[in-house]
Amino acid sequence: MIEADYEYRTGIGMDIHRLVAGRDLMLGGVLVPYPLGLLGHSDGDVVLHAVIDALLGAASEGDIGTLFPDTDAEWKDADSKELLLMVKDLLVEKRWEVVNVDLIVHAEEPKLERFKGQMKRCISGILGIDFINVNVKAKTNEGLGEIGAGQAMAATATVLLRRSVKRML
Ligand code: MG
Repeated sequence: MIEADYEYRTGIGMDIHRLVAGRDLMLGGVLVPYPLGLLGHSDGDVVLHAVIDALLGAASEGDIGTLFPDTDAEWKDADSKELLLMVKDLLVEKRWEVVNVDLIVHAEEPKLERFKGQMKRCISGILGIDFINVNVKAKTNEGLGEIGAGQAMAATATVLLRRSVKRML
C-alpha cells in the first residue's frame, strides 16, 4: 500500500543593512516613506533578503550570496521581489511548498504598523500562499547599538517548507 505523507524543513534567515541618504527604503517589497534608505548592491530590502535566506536554508540550497553574488553586475540595484520570485521557482522545481513565514523587522524608526499588511500581501503573493500564512512583527532596538541609533535596519525570518513523499507500507 502506498500512502502520501509530508516531509517538513524549517529555515532561518537574518540580514542587516546600513541606512544612508539618497536611497529608497524598501522593506518587505514595500516602499516606506522615510528620509533614509538601505545601502546594498541590490535594492537593500533587508526583509526580503532574510526571507530568501530562510527559504534557501530550509531547502538546503545555500544562501543568498551564493545565488546572487554582490560581485555580479547582474544583481546591481536588483529588485529583491524578483530575487524572491526566482527562489520561489527553485523551490517549486524541488517540489517544496511554503507552509508559513514569520519575520521580525528590527528598526528604531519609522513606525511600521501601517505597512505590515502590504508586506504580508507582497510576500504571500510572490510565494503563492495565503495572506494569513505570512506574519510580520516590528521591533525597535530600545535605542541600543547601531539599529537603536538609527544607523541600520535588520530582519530575522523563519519559514516552514513541506513536500509530499510516498511511503510504502
Ligand atoms: Mg542583504
